[in-house]
Amino acid sequence: MSEWAQQPTELHVRHREADPSRDLDYPPLPEALAVGVYDNHTHLEISDGAPGSELDYREHLDRASSVGVKGVVQVGGDLETSRWSAQIAEREPRVLAAVALHPNEVPAYAAAGTLDAALAEIDALAAQPRVRAIGETGLDFFRTGEDWREAQLRAFEAHIQIAKNHGIALQIHDRDAHQAVMETLIRVGAPEKTVFHCFSGDAEMARFCADQGWYLSFAGTVTFKNAAYLREALESIPRDRILVETDAPFLTPHPYRGRPNSPYLIPTTLRAMAAHLETDVTMLAAQISSTTEEVYGLWDEDLPELIESLDRPE
Ligand SMILES: [Zn+2]
Repeated sequence: MSEWAQQPTELHVRHREADPSRDLDYPPLPEALAVGVYDNHTHLEISDGAPGSELDYREHLDRASSVGVKGVVQVGGDLETSRWSAQIAEREPRVLAAVALHPNEVPAYAAAGTLDAALAEIDALAAQPRVRAIGETGLDFFRTGEDWREAQLRAFEAHIQIAKNHGIALQIHDRDAHQAVMETLIRVGAPEKTVFHCFSGDAEMARFCADQGWYLSFAGTVTFKNAAYLREALESIPRDRILVETDAPFLTPHPYRGRPNSPYLIPTTLRAMAAHLETDVTMLAAQISSTTEEVYGLWDEDLPELIESLDRPE
């Protein structure tokens, strides 16, 4: 077997937390998009679905390709998933990688005294040509308490610096920390390509971010009935600031909320966005596609040469 065809082995399989009230069936495939687009934030390493129906990363990508999702940014949240993300991007033309220590993982590294060493490894991974973003990083005041805010902030600042040093994008995780995230970016100086992953602010915050030249990535949450504020945010910014993502396996769009998510559900979210914006889905897809390439570069560049001579994995 060629190296290309081998499954990566370094990753311990991760399962989404069990919740007996959830429907574990993957939603049906949506109608294919006429113009392709990218999922700029997904976690293909987290398995979800009823036992026996979990999808591996290639199955996720094949389903995505079949409905016009051209590629994904696979996002790490600790050293193990960041290494895996970088490795998958090296062997799979439809994957680019983002690497970082998630703000909710930072306390564990800080408590173990290994935060600086872990940040140094993120910096080393960021030098790989198909690692095109530092993420997800940021601040999370929902799941991490006051005691660890200083460590979170220090790690966030270090991640911003790493993104700037390598000239790659920054993917922000911001949960209940809008003000602190924006203040930090302004104070430290945001990278040229700064993306708010799963944007969760209101229209006022959206306009502020767009005015800074930052990008807002909308997830399935923009389709939720109780999220009118996100649709107001969406319509209040220039179209060239808009990105779309799944954050799979989480945040599955309406009407499949709670079921497993996958990049193949991007068309469902995109159609809801186009309907709300009263624009043609094809035009929105074309615009988001070119914005995504502006932020992360092209998916088919920097592939190791050997890949061209090898077949796709079985
Ligand atoms: Zn995420």
